[in-house]
Amino acid sequence: MPLNVVIVGSGPSGFYTAEALLEKAPDARVDVIDRLPSPFGLIRFGVAPDHQGSKKIVKRFERTAADPRVRFFGNVDVGRDVAVGELRELYDAVVFASGAALDRNLGIPGEDKKNVLGSADFVGWYNGHPDFAGLDVDLSGKAVAVVGNGNVAIDVARVLAKTEEEMSTSDLPEEVAGKIQAARLKDIYIIGRRGPVEASFTTRELKELGNLERAVPLIDAGLLPDSVSDQGDRKTQIVKEKNLEVLRGYVDNRPGDKPISIHLLFLASPVEILGDEKASGLRLVRNRLERGRAVATDESFTLPADLVVTCIGYRSRPIDGVPFDDREGRFINEDGRIASGLYAAGWAKRGPTGVISTNHPDGVNVAGHVVEDCGTGSGSTPGREGLESLLATRGCRVVDYGDWQKINAAELAAARAGAPRRKFTTVADMLAVLDQLAK
Ligand code: NAP
Repeated sequence: MPLNVVIVGSGPSGFYTAEALLEKAPDARVDVIDRLPSPFGLIRFGVAPDHQGSKKIVKRFERTAADPRVRFFGNVDVGRDVAVGELRELYDAVVFASGAALDRNLGIPGEDKKNVLGSADFVGWYNGHPDFAGLDVDLSGKAVAVVGNGNVAIDVARVLAKTEEEMSTSDLPEEVAGKIQAARLKDIYIIGRRGPVEASFTTRELKELGNLERAVPLIDAGLLPDSVSDQGDRKTQIVKEKNLEVLRGYVDNRPGDKPISIHLLFLASPVEILGDEKASGLRLVRNRLERGRAVATDESFTLPADLVVTCIGYRSRPIDGVPFDDREGRFINEDGRIASGLYAAGWAKRGPTGVISTNHPDGVNVAGHVVEDCGTGSGSTPGREGLESLLATRGCRVVDYGDWQKINAAELAAARAGAPRRKFTTVADMLAVLDQLAK
């Protein structure tokens, strides 16, 4: 009997882990479960629709998915269709690579108003995630507040600011594209609670804001320090210095240079979302920095905001039977080990940090632990066949990798000229492709 491993989650951390497992234990059989019929998680639903280049990594994951030692179990919800305890009985090792799909909250009054959305929902919406296809987003106003100073905040601002032409090579769903193009946005505020040096943007993303057709980034020159204080490590130092240089290039921009102004605000924290049922503005306090931390001053101000998108990080979805750190929003683990036979990788392990490739060493690491702890397997776990028959008794409709390839082909075939694909945004539409082909 081979080493039987199941990975919950088919995003980058899941597939990097699968790849590493096959390298370290060539006789292993690795099953990858996803709640949705589509694999690749964050690549499909997190990476921005206009960053198609970043999605090319999927080619690598496709090679792993097509390996006969790997089996994709799409449309299977761990918790609903199969319990964690059952997976632990069926497999030698269970690896949670289920990401961080839930939003962190600001915890301020007004957060429950209409048109206040977290980035998990908003990014899911513009990326055609079935959970958010019907999200009620009102883009009829003129001002948008994007809270947070990471790359997700930049993604959100850029996707809202780009023209139809700029988005023509993206896979933005048509309904979303229609709404964005019909909007008459004037001001997008990107709000950081700390300063420009503390922002976690990467330089390429920050620079992109300066090359938009109809939007111009604005910054108050007074907020830019003369130099970057010692950041400790060389790599971070270089990124911060380059960011500062990019921001300096924006100080001469003026409102009205282009139809949309992207205001880069720093040292400000929202303390209340204003409006009746729906958001109409933000009240913020000005902060000062104390040993790198944002500390509120007595000064406050307001901004108009018809839509508020919080991009302040994510939490993993807890699951019955897996110890969870509620404060950190991830599974309790020691370097990827949760309990005997239970592991975590990627954002489910370390929280929502790092770029796609950060998950590679992480996957190699957890695969190492699995092989070290489980060797060639107990010889008594039923693995794949056991899961298949359990799911069959429950009437669960499993979408395998061959099925996904058919759905994928239908998306590619339906793409309008210049676009990479036309995404199905509901599970029913994906399954209908298979039903149609089976007729
Ligand atoms: P992030 O880089 O951690 O940024 C989160 C931001 O939210 C930080 O600026 C943080 O400020 C702020 N924040 C947290 N709590 C807050 C609060 N209560 N009030 C105000 N601000 C608050 O996370 P992210 O943007 O969600 O991105 C997640 C990861 O994906 C990152 O590693 C990112 O680089 C990566 N990513 C990469 C790309 C790309 O490569 N193109 C695109 C998207 C995402 P503090 O710093 O003060 O905590």
